[in-house]
Amino acid sequence: MRITLWGTRGSLAAAGPDTVVYGGDTSSVEVRATDGAAIVLDAGSGIRKLSAELDGLPRIDILLTHLHMDHIQGLGFFTPLFDDDVEVHVWGPASATQSLEERLARYLSPPLFPVRLRDLANVALHDLAPGHFTVGPFTVSADFVCHPGLTFGYRIAANGATLAYLPDHEPALGVPHFPDSPEWTSGFDLAEGVDVLIHDAQFTDDEYAQRRGWGHSTFSQVAAFAEMAGVGTLVTFHHDPSHDDATLDAITKRFAARANPFSFVPGKAGTTFEL
Ligand SMILES: [Zn+2]
Ligand SMILES: [Zn+2]
Repeated sequence: MRITLWGTRGSLAAAGPDTVVYGGDTSSVEVRATDGAAIVLDAGSGIRKLSAELDGLPRIDILLTHLHMDHIQGLGFFTPLFDDDVEVHVWGPASATQSLEERLARYLSPPLFPVRLRDLANVALHDLAPGHFTVGPFTVSADFVCHPGLTFGYRIAANGATLAYLPDHEPALGVPHFPDSPEWTSGFDLAEGVDVLIHDAQFTDDEYAQRRGWGHSTFSQVAAFAEMAGVGTLVTFHHDPSHDDATLDAITKRFAARANPFSFVPGKAGTTFEL
């Protein structure tokens, strides 16, 4: 399995000379099996540059965690959507009253976007329920996790490797002493024992005090979560748009100096993992 980070930023794209190292584009991750089959995790602004890499594939599956704008804003700029030779399947949460297609069409239609989702004949939308399903060589597990609105986390297995993707996640919310026992911890089953965990690490401890309930984690919370889940490598992700490269370098250097029981790789756009 090969994993490439195309967008690592959270909440809002943050392009500019101060964010070139960690990246300014919002959440999008490419996952490839050894046979070349591709899954794309989220459609933030990072998905635009990924388009060219997927040239020639007959089918592409996009798994959306949720429909906050930073996870769908790039969808209309993903060129396979407009290529009739490619089948694009989009998976994500419906609401109690609207299908995924109806929810996404609120963005992909005028006045917010010039093209209507319903006019794209090669795009199939799938309302996703918690559980397991297969996409080509990939086995996908989806479950709801703690974040405002309906939000999935994903666990993906292929070619003997496992990845968990929890870009927006606040498992410490409402827990007086985090972490609690595994069975009471949001996202634990998805992350347990994976080779690579890509996880929300948006805030410092100081920032979190003012932003409790916003749906995101601190570096210390994600360290506790990754340790409890026994992951191989933790990739911190969904960087706050106000954190420039110098700020993130300082935070991640301190974090790397801890005695973590897992490998640690700060999420930077362009980073690839071969598993
Ligand atoms: Zn987000
Ligand atoms: Zn979100």
